[in-house]
Amino acid sequence: MRKLGRSGLMVSRLCFGTLTMSPLQRDMPPEDGARLLIHAYERGVRFLDTADLYGTYPHIRLALKEAPDYVVSTKAYCWDEETARAALERAYQGIGRDYVDLFMLHEQESLYTLRGHEEALIYLQKQKERGHIGAVGVSTHFSACVAAAPRFPMIDVIHPLINRAGIGIQDGAREDMEAAIRAARDMGIGIFAMKPLGGGHLISDNEAALRYAIESPLLDSVALGMQTIEEIDANAAAFEGDFSLLDALKDRPRRIMVHDWCEGCGRCAERCKQHAIQVVDGRARVDSSKCVFCGYCARACPQFCIKVV
Ligand code: SF4
Ligand code: SF4
Repeated sequence: MRKLGRSGLMVSRLCFGTLTMSPLQRDMPPEDGARLLIHAYERGVRFLDTADLYGTYPHIRLALKEAPDYVVSTKAYCWDEETARAALERAYQGIGRDYVDLFMLHEQESLYTLRGHEEALIYLQKQKERGHIGAVGVSTHFSACVAAAPRFPMIDVIHPLINRAGIGIQDGAREDMEAAIRAARDMGIGIFAMKPLGGGHLISDNEAALRYAIESPLLDSVALGMQTIEEIDANAAAFEGDFSLLDALKDRPRRIMVHDWCEGCGRCAERCKQHAIQVVDGRARVDSSKCVFCGYCARACPQFCIKVV
């Protein structure tokens, strides 16, 4: 367990990322997702991450009945008071609590994005003062956002993309992100990382990738998506210093599929922040070397053509 910076939240270093069980990826029934969350809780995990977008509030709501001490982090696309209030209300209803431990603005990019969304941050800060939120944060794939976040005193926590190879960082290398994280951390901001396996690209050497995240002094906690009991056991053991179970997970590379009925509308390409999709000859084509398998494009497709497995 670690304190998540000045937020004061006590979290496990392994955070359960629930995107992998969501309709955007494995699309598990809530009962199956809850079973995994409860198993992780029994292994000592006390921190989980979701998002308004993910559709995993039902899974979490069920899990919290048997795993009540989970610290719950969620995030949403909010830019003003109205959108923040609505997203927060959906979170309360969704998880069945009148309190959210950590609420973040999703996919922020820079100082300008943060300034443009400042009204939402101010609203969230007020909700924190009233005791409805434990801490306020931002999630980002941009080192520029991490560098800018300390200018906003209401931001207690940053959820940045960082991994050993720097895969998925949108505006520079791993070293740029590390420098920005170090400066934010020095200001007391809590850091919990996302995509330590680069969205699956680093699975072939998952031990090195996880060692980087676990041993980094910059990261208070690390969110990992997990889809099976075996994955939970292997990752929990790794966070306890035993990396021997990771080998068995190497033969499960991630894939993204675009079904034949794609109409080439291009909405998925507009949605992809990694610039991994192009429409060629009337059909979406994914450059797997750029894709971090987040599944966000799947939600943007009106024809339900895209699946991440
Ligand atoms: S959004 Fe769906 S239909 Fe449109 S180009 Fe992408 S995959 Fe094809
Ligand atoms: S192609 Fe889709 S799954 Fe891949 S990075 Fe882009 S939005 Fe995410």
